[in-house]
Amino acid sequence: MDLTFDEIALGWDDDVPLECECDHGDDEAYAPCGRRAKWRVTIDCTCGEDHPRTVELLCTKCLRTARKDLGDEAITARPL
Ligand SMILES: [Zn+2]
Ligand SMILES: [Zn+2]
Repeated sequence: MDLTFDEIALGWDDDVPLECECDHGDDEAYAPCGRRAKWRVTIDCTCGEDHPRTVELLCTKCLRTARKDLGDEAITARPL
C-alpha cells in the first residue's frame, strides 16, 4: 500500500491503537481477545462487597458479553 504522509499521520492519530482489556484466559495466563478497544467501560461491583468500580477498555463484542454477564445496570460505556 502506498500511503502519503497525511494518510499515515491520520491513521496514527490516537497514538497506539488501544487493545481490548478483556481477559479470556484462565487463572494462570492473561489472554486478551486482541481486538481494538472501542469503549471505556465503567463496571460497578456486582459481588455485593462494595468494591470500587473498575474501568476497562473493551471492544464491542466484549462489552456485549460483559453486559450479558453482569447486567445492564452495572455497566456504563462511553465511546473512546
Ligand atoms: Zn466486588
Ligand atoms: Zn475484547
